[in-house]
Amino acid sequence: MKNVDLIVPCYNEAEVLELFYAEASKTADACKQYAFRFIFVDDGSRDATLDVILKLAQRDPARVKYISFSRNFGKEAAMLAGMKYSSGDYVGIIDADLQHSPDLIADMLAALEEGYDVAAARRVDRKGEKSTVSAFSRLFYRISDKMVDVKIEQGAQDFRLMRRKVVDAIISLPEYSRFSKGIFSWVGFKTKWFEHANRERAAGKTKWSFFKLMKYALDGIIAFSAVPLKIALLTGMAFSGIGIAYALYIVIRTLIYGPDEPGYPSIITAIFIIGGLILFSLGIIGEYLARIYLEVKHRPVYIISQTNIEPGTAAPQGG
Ligand code: UDP
Ligand code: MG
Repeated sequence: MKNVDLIVPCYNEAEVLELFYAEASKTADACKQYAFRFIFVDDGSRDATLDVILKLAQRDPARVKYISFSRNFGKEAAMLAGMKYSSGDYVGIIDADLQHSPDLIADMLAALEEGYDVAAARRVDRKGEKSTVSAFSRLFYRISDKMVDVKIEQGAQDFRLMRRKVVDAIISLPEYSRFSKGIFSWVGFKTKWFEHANRERAAGKTKWSFFKLMKYALDGIIAFSAVPLKIALLTGMAFSGIGIAYALYIVIRTLIYGPDEPGYPSIITAIFIIGGLILFSLGIIGEYLARIYLEVKHRPVYIISQTNIEPGTAAPQGG
């Protein structure tokens, strides 16, 4: 019998966890050939999430495992901790809010049995999402497609099921600033994509604000691409070229027509444009520098305050 570990990142999900557990258990019971475990990762929730998880763990100690962080470290950290503490032959990641329907897990399992290494969900629509958010996320995919070295599947979700070797590959990447959509694609492996209609959240509310999403998109591009640095370089080169051409033009014109009257406005304009470009380029370099700084500090990605997963099988604190 194969073991399946389902990782469930939870941040302030007290309202929905019982419902999630009920639905996920139904799926687990239906897939009789597999032994399921749910690894709830409480990402420093400030509501009763941990209490609900503890109650579930008491009711169903064989199946409900949990890890609780000392504070909120973000979904990326929660997914990493779940993967490090998982031991199943197959490991899945699923949101707690039931936007990822557990029903799909049966099909995903079938795909793995067919020989795929990864079964991943991709959303087909953006129902239940603000139109500004959809517009920006489409823009993100357009930009990232051009810049980023790895292909980030349009609409890819974190909802997926993977073979052990894929999980081992993912956790072998030591980076601190983790952008899973990029990492999943970077490690490769044979992936089957499932179209997945976006469901409304069963309860509670989304943790993503517009600015958080923008920051996440920027993190993704910077983590997987050096193209922004090249843009700074190319713009610098282009402007130097324009400058040299203009200087030549002035020399020739002065030789032919004699000196011109002073061009005060054009100088001011040039200073603003060049000054702006220099600051812009420095800003881009700064973004990379800030991330290098975070990486070299080698801080743990998360800190665990309690868990019911046996040591032995578990990864060391913090990853
Ligand atoms: N989540 C988390 N830590 C965070 C933010 C979110 O573990 O800091 C979890 C959250 O509990 C949920 C999943 O990540 O299970 C997706 O979050 P959410 O539903 O808010 O995102 P959306 O579906 O709106 O993109
Ligand atoms: Mg959600």
